[in-house]
Amino acid sequence: MPAPFRSYALVSREQIARNYRNVQSVVGPGVEVAGVVKADAYGHGMLEVARVLTAQGARWLAVSSVEEGTLLRDAGIHQTRILVMGGFLPHEREALVEYHLTPAVHSLDQIREADAVARSSGAQLPYHLKIDSGMGRLGTRASASEILAVLAETPHAKLEGLMTHLASSADYTSAQTDEQLACFHAMTEALRGAGVKLALVHASSSNPIGYGRREGWYNMVRAGLSLYGYVSRARGDAPRQRLDVKPALTWKARLVAVKDIPEGALVGYGGTFRAPRPMRIGIAGAGYADGVSHRLSNRGHVIADGQLTSILGAVSMDLTTIDLSHTSSLAPGDEITLLGAEGDASLDARQIARSAGTIAYDILCSIGSRVRRVYT
Ligand SMILES: *Cc1c(COP(=O)(O)O)cnc(C)c1O
Repeated sequence: MPAPFRSYALVSREQIARNYRNVQSVVGPGVEVAGVVKADAYGHGMLEVARVLTAQGARWLAVSSVEEGTLLRDAGIHQTRILVMGGFLPHEREALVEYHLTPAVHSLDQIREADAVARSSGAQLPYHLKIDSGMGRLGTRASASEILAVLAETPHAKLEGLMTHLASSADYTSAQTDEQLACFHAMTEALRGAGVKLALVHASSSNPIGYGRREGWYNMVRAGLSLYGYVSRARGDAPRQRLDVKPALTWKARLVAVKDIPEGALVGYGGTFRAPRPMRIGIAGAGYADGVSHRLSNRGHVIADGQLTSILGAVSMDLTTIDLSHTSSLAPGDEITLLGAEGDASLDARQIARSAGTIAYDILCSIGSRVRRVYT
């Protein structure tokens, strides 16, 4: 489907909907699937994806910041709960209540802050308490008795959920996930044993869903990457990956120029590529400002005329030079594929990430705002 843009990303709403349904069917009806739409839905477009997920019946969305949550509400997303996973800052307190956002609270002091907000606004402020079970990022490391003491003095805010996040969930050579889940499980037991009601308990992102780590599912999971069609590659002796998800985004760029260069010609900034023979090259209208990683210089690939072909020289801000020696059928204005499938060739975010020395998340999130999103 042609679109009148230099570079654009085609996003399949139907594929995202299918991926969501697949996640839901793997975890079963007793487990709530919160759709993670932070970071502009990993480059897919936060509002569009939120609308797709709510149309699929999602009752929870998850974002990183209060700002992302207010964007969703301002755009008319009112029918779902919104979990703000990255916590809140002092200047964001009022917006939590005003926009009906549910913060992940990650310290005992933040429980007190949430309580003060709820008391002064006279509104209910449900929150999910995040436990640092061993990742060493957000989350409280307080003991159950310390938490219970603070809960007793904070009657206005409402503890609705308990959550943690796993650091190594696709790594089956590491004991970290088992250790984290044991720590988290002990905390849920201790709090429940003391009479605390926890409506929602959650610890899993896409990888523990994909690899079937049921003991990490509890009654809610937070699915991000899998909604966009990916599960991280496992390390070690992992069970079979059971999520049948497929990439929902295809990224195209048009050729701005096609030309022939002689043997010995240099290509791009720094002259880091020298043509070993006469070559045909194409200059595509997308560069690192659009999210083509500079690290793909002389290493990455794209698909042109149905075949994988190399990126030549340094990726520049607005342009990327590629080898077109295999074809004479492409002309300026024609499209090449930066991510997706064309003919028998395909290139997904995991493969690109491997060439660039990063992770699929980074590739997807880096697709720039100049790249128009086109929804199908
Ligand atoms: C981003 C995020 C997720 C989603 O992770 P995926 O691997 O993309 O599924 C879940 N939980 C937290 C706390 C996150 O920050």
